[in-house]
Order: sequence, then structure tokens, then C-alpha cells
Amino acid sequence: MKLGNSILSAYETSVFEVMSRLAREHDAVNLGQGFPDSNGPDDVRQVAVEATDKGPNQYPPSPGLPELRQAVAAHGKRFYDLDIDWQTETLITCGGTHALASCFLGLIEPGDEVVMFEPVFDTYLPMVRRAGGIPKLVRLSPPDWAVPRAALRAAFSAKTKLVLVNSPMNPTGKVFDRAELEDIAALCREFDAFAVCDEVYEHLVFDNLRHIPLMTLPGMRERTVRIGSAGKIFSLTGWKIGFLTGPKHMVQPIFRAHQAVIFSVVPSLQKAVAYGLGKDDAFFASIAVELQGKRDRFMAALAKVGFLAFKPHGTYFVTADFRPLGANDDALGFCTRLVTEAGVAAIPLSALYEGDIPQHLIRFAFCKRDEVLDEAARRLAKYFGKT
Ligand code: PMP
Repeated sequence: MKLGNSILSAYETSVFEVMSRLAREHDAVNLGQGFPDSNGPDDVRQVAVEATDKGPNQYPPSPGLPELRQAVAAHGKRFYDLDIDWQTETLITCGGTHALASCFLGLIEPGDEVVMFEPVFDTYLPMVRRAGGIPKLVRLSPPDWAVPRAALRAAFSAKTKLVLVNSPMNPTGKVFDRAELEDIAALCREFDAFAVCDEVYEHLVFDNLRHIPLMTLPGMRERTVRIGSAGKIFSLTGWKIGFLTGPKHMVQPIFRAHQAVIFSVVPSLQKAVAYGLGKDDAFFASIAVELQGKRDRFMAALAKVGFLAFKPHGTYFVTADFRPLGANDDALGFCTRLVTEAGVAAIPLSALYEGDIPQHLIRFAFCKRDEVLDEAARRLAKYFGKT
């Protein structure tokens, strides 16, 4: 019998799915997969309810509802002073994941090189490779996950088609600083490369830092697409409404991929997200304030148990080294033990590296109600004998 595609067949079921299943089976507190345990803002959901009821519920325009595309352009202006033409420079997608896939399919030619940073979000490698791209990985290391300048330069070549930048970064919680972004921008200009910026956590930045879109740096407006996700902004991850902005010459081929793969996206949810993006500044500011409190609460608990946790400045993830606990399992073994014996699910970072894979790092998601974080902390403390 013939086999399926060899590139995709080589990848296993996502570790996020595996750990969520184990969490359900063992009644564990699931701090593995990154999803909040709230139900999103009432008013945003209400717009979706009304729009579903009233309709239309038929295919919306393929690039997205005009009102959402206008809201996406206005959001870029409001937060980053970006001038975006909503008609030619925006696209509404089925989540950030589908925006990424459309970028890879729309921009990459077989044999093109794609620079990206490790640990790498799990959809990047299979989709870049399936699109014909050759990943060039630049490894970031704790505690600060700083970009190694020489390694970054060495990853670029005449064959570089694009660099993929995820800031704020999952799983590390790193927020790329201006100097790092300037280095990346300089290399993009020198090697005539595009940038695809996965900025789904743009509003989840702590410690009075600011998210800086690479697109706002000199010479980058015409070579960068920026990806956002309503799932992350509104704590509605199941909605899968994403959006991207970029220059027309990039958005056009990306749109061709989008229309071939999915064509259009649920109209009532688009309406609700258009409404949501217009919410006041207090709403957007509150997202990070609340999460920063949760970060501090959970980091304190991890320290008490004995983990060496690395302070994230963005996202809702914290990475921890479990070696100080005296554990000598590999990361998958440790997480399996944690979910089955301690009753807490986490994600092994080993799934997000290639080559010489670090085996001592795991990721917890802290986008949960305080009592859930406290219960996870209680279980960890009990399991590791720290009560
Ligand atoms: N990029 C990163 C870095 C993510 O963490 C996620 C979600 N986990 C996505 C993209 C996908 O976003 P969405 O759920 O909107 O598809």
C-alpha cells in the first residue's frame, strides 16, 4: 500500500494533545496546553450570539468581513502607529495557526531557508518543511533566552527566504528587545529576507515592558507580516479567529493559500472579534495586569517546591528546570510522572527542540483561576515532600 506524506508522517501526535489526554485520564490539573479556564468577555460572546442568531451565516468574503479587517487595521494604528490599508493589507484567518500555515505555503519556494528560534512552537517545523522550506534553527538558552548574535548571523545566507519571529515567545515567555529586533531587521535587509512575525501574545507583556512589532523598525514595513489571534487577546482559544497584516505583495500570495485551504472564516465570530478589537484601552491593559499577578503567584509556588523557574516577561507560560529537585528522568518521563503521580500536567520542552535536545526543561501554563493554580501548587508541594 502507498504511504501518506513522508514529512508529516514523521511527526508524532502533538505533545499538547498527549498531555491533555493524560490530564483527563488522571484527573490532573492541566497546566500543559495553554488555554485559559475563563469563558472570555461576556460582551464579546454576546455579539457572537446575536450575530449567529440574526445571520447572515453563509460564506463571508474570503479575505474576511470588512468590519473585522477595518478593526484589525485600526488596532495596528492604535497600538503601534502602523498605517495599514485594510483592503489590500489585511487577512482574516482560522486562528494564528492557519495564518502561519498560509504564510509558509504562500511565501516559501522549495529549497528556501527559513531562520527560526529554538525552542520552536510545534506547528512551525512540520509546516515549513511541508511547504518545502529548510529550517535553520538558532537556539536560545535560559535564563534570559538572549539571541546569540553570531549564531543568528550564521543562520542567514543568500538562500534565506524568511525569518520567523515569535515575540512574545512561546514557550520561553521571552519578549524580544529592541536591540535584538534591530539585529534581525538588519539581517533581513542585508539578505533581502521576509519576516513572518507570530505576535499572538502581543497584549500579554509584563513588567512595564512594551511589545515592539518588528514591522515598525526601519525598512521592515515592506518585508514583514504580523500575525495576531483573537483566541489569545480575548481568552477564547476555541474560536480560532486570527488575523494578519502586511504589505500587499506579501499578503496576496498568502491570501491565495488561504483561499485554497479554507476560503473563509465563521462570520458571527468575526463580527464579535471586530467588536472586541474596539474595546477601550482599560480592557487591553487589564489582560497583562491580571496575568502578571498569576505569574508571580505561580512562580513563588514553583520556587517553594524547588524548581528553578525562569521569569517570563510575556505570554502565559513559565519554563522550569527540574534538576534541582534531584529528578533524573528525561523531560517526557518527568512530565508523564507529574501528570500520572502528582496530578499536574506540564509540557516537556524536549518536544520543541531538534538535534541535541535539552532534557531538563518543562513548561507550565498559568492562565488559570487562582484557586486552580493554588491546587496545582499544593499537589506539587505534596508530591515533592515540601508541605
Ligand atoms: N503561535 C503561537 C506561538 C502559539 O502559542 C499559538 C497557540 N498556542 C498559536 C500561534 C496559534 O494561535 P491560534 O490558537 O489562534 O491558532
